[in-house]
Amino acid sequence: MTEPRSKILVVDDVPANIKIISAILKHEHDIIVATNGMTALEIARLELPDLILLDVMMPNMDGFEVCARLKSDIRTNDIPVIFISAMNEVEDEARGLEAGGLDYITKPVNPAIVRARVRIHLELKRQRDLLERISMIDGLTGIANRRRLDDVLGREWRRCHRSGSPLSLILVDVDFFKNFNDHCGHLAGDECLKKVAAAMAGQIRRAADLVARFGGEEFTCLLPDTGPDAAHAMAVRLRDAVTALAIEHPQSVTAHYVTISLGVATLIPDDGDQSARLIDIADRGLYWAKQNGRNQIGMV
Ligand code: GH3
Ligand code: MG
Ligand code: MG
Repeated sequence: MTEPRSKILVVDDVPANIKIISAILKHEHDIIVATNGMTALEIARLELPDLILLDVMMPNMDGFEVCARLKSDIRTNDIPVIFISAMNEVEDEARGLEAGGLDYITKPVNPAIVRARVRIHLELKRQRDLLERISMIDGLTGIANRRRLDDVLGREWRRCHRSGSPLSLILVDVDFFKNFNDHCGHLAGDECLKKVAAAMAGQIRRAADLVARFGGEEFTCLLPDTGPDAAHAMAVRLRDAVTALAIEHPQSVTAHYVTISLGVATLIPDDGDQSARLIDIADRGLYWAKQNGRNQIGMV
């Protein structure tokens, strides 16, 4: 399998220098260029390059300043930066690394070294991104895990507080799942959880909505900018999607197939992180659903 070409932003106020670097890298990578700091910041935000090669000495805004600004912007702060500069003083190198640069290459550049360091930092970035993704995914079902839910819930709580919009959360629990395991075996139980997760994730219509595994046979659906009516409508869709799977469950008291109980909560977030309250309210709705025959939606 061939690696996809990486996008590298080369920043230098001297076009001849850009030409040299481009000539070294263009066979392996896609090169985009900027000849001053301001343009570099704009392009970085727009194009989100995989790596930035940044000249230190530039008029108006030097490379250290550009790097510091990249690092303070959430959109660009994880793009690796390598400084390229004619200054080969130790202090400059230290300043560059302190500004958030990962590496330092001095001019005149050696083509083999530039290629090798670029390759190393691209590979490190790929591995970091992969780890980050894996750490947010549930191993069994492949949907978002609890860590991701906590992360997004905290963020959406603050965002909805700023905008004054409602935030809804649905807590889902598979009915009589212990019986299912006992009767069909744990492996069948695992397969069942995978199907339930996929069916619910398939109901998501908006990019900000999130279905996550809460733990065990419990799931959540987080719905930013969503009031109680729309949240209830989503709960109905989740329940119907799981019912439609028609997974046989002879030991269920509720039905002959696998069903879920759901609790729905909606809050308009206040200041301070009180997102646990949302889960608490949904939990009470879920308890109501369990008490009232299961395969129900509870809103308290
Ligand atoms: P209720 O309708 O009240 O929710 O009853 P229940 O049997 O679903 O609830 P209970 O909490 O007693 O049992 C949950 C079961 O879910 C027990 C546990 O073994 C099973 N479970 C949790 N995680 C997994 C998993 O990853 N795989 C499998 N196969 N089973 C799991
Ligand atoms: Mg449970
Ligand atoms: Mg259960």
